[in-house]
Amino acid sequence: MNALATYLTTQLPAMLQFTERLVNQDSPATEPANIQQAVALVQAKMEALHMTVHQLNANHPGTILIGELPGTLPGRPVILSGHLDTVFPTGTTAQRPFTTTQSLMSGPGIFDMKPGLTMGLFAIQALQALQLPHRAIRMLVITDEEKIHRDSTADQALAQAAQGADFALNLEGSAALNQVTTTTRGGMIVEVAVQGQAAHSGAAPEAGRSAILELAHQIIQLEALSDLTAGLHVNCGTITGGSSENIIPDFAKTQLGVRFKTNAQREHLLAQIQAIAATPTVAGTQTTVTVKTKIDSLEPTTGSQTLLQIADQHAQAIGIGPLAAIASGGASDAGIIAAQGIPTLDGLGIVGGKAHTKDEFAVVESLLPRTQLIAALLQITHQFN
Ligand SMILES: [Zn+2]
Repeated sequence: MNALATYLTTQLPAMLQFTERLVNQDSPATEPANIQQAVALVQAKMEALHMTVHQLNANHPGTILIGELPGTLPGRPVILSGHLDTVFPTGTTAQRPFTTTQSLMSGPGIFDMKPGLTMGLFAIQALQALQLPHRAIRMLVITDEEKIHRDSTADQALAQAAQGADFALNLEGSAALNQVTTTTRGGMIVEVAVQGQAAHSGAAPEAGRSAILELAHQIIQLEALSDLTAGLHVNCGTITGGSSENIIPDFAKTQLGVRFKTNAQREHLLAQIQAIAATPTVAGTQTTVTVKTKIDSLEPTTGSQTLLQIADQHAQAIGIGPLAAIASGGASDAGIIAAQGIPTLDGLGIVGGKAHTKDEFAVVESLLPRTQLIAALLQITHQFN
């Protein structure tokens, strides 16, 4: 066993304990007080590792915790990123707290993705304890990923915080010990709002311009933009509009949930949505299209393929290779970082499954080898940027 593996084995109880504390802290993105309590746990650990710590937009929705550590190897910093929020409301951890057997862990966020943060932090700890040379590290902890940043500006803040990095490792989980993610679909929320002309539907219907009727025509066209074989889906998820059955409605809107495989697809789709909005069926109505939030897709690049090859060599040395590069249907913040031109691998965290359900689980034996892989990648000398 090499020194990293030996050291990490001694840290397994501490890693489980830290994970337990993280999991037992409720952290829905919508509860800033809970988020701050979860952030405080990570921040204290970062400070214990002598990292310089600050928060962007502290106490606001979508705050990002940043921990930085100078390198003893040359080169731009390496990003370790992950999110602290879960999809579960406050009170869930009281009902079903962290539990573990020899083989499996459970609890809210046990796969998606609290152990990933434990693994990143203990990879840093191992490098320090063993005085191994390592790259400069910038750890980014996001707090409203599950809401795809719809109530915050964290997507822009994350893009900003990623600037100047050499490469990035996102610590979401994977389904198997030898898997990492090189492709994720992107997502966005688009609001399509129609303004019409109100009128009494009995006295003067000819004076009205129905926003609901116009929106109905548009919804048929918008949904038809979906192309599932191309990985593109448009879902008119909500509609609102009108005020009374005897008034021609002057207002209607829909929120679109959009998923796409490439950022080029997204731009093309947005142009199509704009074109539909610009050509009304009901004359005299006007439509505005607003992108509420977006997460870029993660697409393989020359840089990310090189990073994958390097990771594969280390994974094989650790005994969890050869690595399989997986395409994931779910959006992830890795896409936002990669869109800044930074080679990015995702899915480096814990192995498990059933995210977003009460049956969510994680595999204990994946903690150590995959933490070792993260630590190994913080030691590479290859420069990407
Ligand atoms: Zn996640």
